[in-house]
Amino acid sequence: MAHETHAQLYIGGKWRATSETLAVINPANEEVIGKVAVARETDLADATDAAWQGFQAWSRTSPAARAAIILKAAQLLRERLEDIARSITLENGKPISEARSEVIRGCEFFEWDAGECVRLYGRVIPSAPGIRYMVLHEPIGPVAAFSPWNFPMSQPARKIGGALAAGCSIIMKASEETPTGVVHIARALHDAGLPAGVLNLVFGHPAEISEYLIPQDRIRMVAFTGSTAVGKHLTTLASQVMKPALMELGGHAPVIVCEDADPVAAGIACATRKYRNSGQVCTSPTRFFVHEALYDRFTVAFQEKAQSIKVGDGLDAATQMGPVANDRRIAALQELVDDARSKGARVLCGGGRLVGKGYFFAPTAIADLPDDARALSEEPFGPLALINPVSSVEQAVAKANALPFGLAAYAFTNSVANVDRLIQGIEAGNLSINTLEASVAETPFGGVKESGLGREGGAEGLHHYTVVKNVSLRIA
Ligand code: NAD
Repeated sequence: MAHETHAQLYIGGKWRATSETLAVINPANEEVIGKVAVARETDLADATDAAWQGFQAWSRTSPAARAAIILKAAQLLRERLEDIARSITLENGKPISEARSEVIRGCEFFEWDAGECVRLYGRVIPSAPGIRYMVLHEPIGPVAAFSPWNFPMSQPARKIGGALAAGCSIIMKASEETPTGVVHIARALHDAGLPAGVLNLVFGHPAEISEYLIPQDRIRMVAFTGSTAVGKHLTTLASQVMKPALMELGGHAPVIVCEDADPVAAGIACATRKYRNSGQVCTSPTRFFVHEALYDRFTVAFQEKAQSIKVGDGLDAATQMGPVANDRRIAALQELVDDARSKGARVLCGGGRLVGKGYFFAPTAIADLPDDARALSEEPFGPLALINPVSSVEQAVAKANALPFGLAAYAFTNSVANVDRLIQGIEAGNLSINTLEASVAETPFGGVKESGLGREGGAEGLHHYTVVKNVSLRIA
């Protein structure tokens, strides 16, 4: 069946069309496949009212009842997996198998958060006779949340799951370029019985929406995933009205391949992971620091794997890498490749846009980059791998930590001593050793330095959506 995107706003439990719309484009063929509604100020005012009303009801709903609705929605999303995955591939370009995995991951976030919300325990503090001190975790209030286009379903699921489980309502502004994943989430929650106003969905002009919502008195928290530049801007807006900001921002993940690792196995694993979602992942392994003794074998294995990757339309089951999401990425990537080449780096494979329709950029690996190559410090956010030799773990750690980012970091080693050096030395919110999985629903995810503030997921995740209230009770 032909897919047509027709994403409306969802405010106070009702779908709402708007007079202004934006086109949605399939990045695999550059065709317009539908449209997304654009919220005006009156829509945002209605969404704020609805979220406030929704919060009054939802925060007084028992955790067990909240969990039941979230779990029911996850079940519906699993039943609707094929439709959702197809829409993700059409709007974002990723291979359909990756789109299916994304939907499952989004459901896992919901399921984890539903389980956690019944365990959001407070404390009773030992006290003198006649008085009691109780620490309560209360839902913080309506949340304004913003999610990007690289994971159209799992990114909003993470924020919506956390907020709802904690007892908050939420206004979600998801990506206008990939709107259908979050529309499916709203439908599933609606069908699962979520009260009106607890989740509200808006699209439009991102700056207009954030500048309207963040200062509103009844919005009590901001959550954002996207670039560090936009994250800093939204954090500034939030700080002006003293609201907490949960920020998942850019990364530039280092991979350290130690002298004792298997260079061929590591090279194949790294190249396989690098090109997932065309490298448009904030945790994507990007800067490879390989011990000089393994460098040639690692580089050959990586290059061979990269060259074997079948690039094409994500709906084709044989495709292993789809297009990048939009033409902005093509332009940004080409600049970084040209800059590295002009400074003497070796382009091992790829290096440019593929001929024909669609935003296809070849899986690219570049070796021997000089320190001043821009790609080594600017997040490529695309299918670009940067491989350089190092002479020690210490040198690799220093290079890994040299950037203002600190989201994910990876290493390959079989040495306990190296593991200890890495754990102590690496500045990152997530360190993965001998695996390229950065986080799952039950582990906390987030960055240090300019990669963000706070954590999503894990036992830590729900706490960001709460405030601590200390109650002192005189009994006698
Ligand atoms: P961008 O910085 O313009 O936008 C990133 C996201 O922020 C988009 O979803 C956009 O809708 C939103 N946004 C932009 N301005 C906003 C505002 N004033 N208020 C609220 N939301 C706003 O860049 P882009 O071209 O869409 O993406 C490219 C860069 O973004 C990449 O280089 C990458 O660093 C970053 N990015 C990161 C993630 C992530 O998962 N951390 C995801 C997508 C993009």
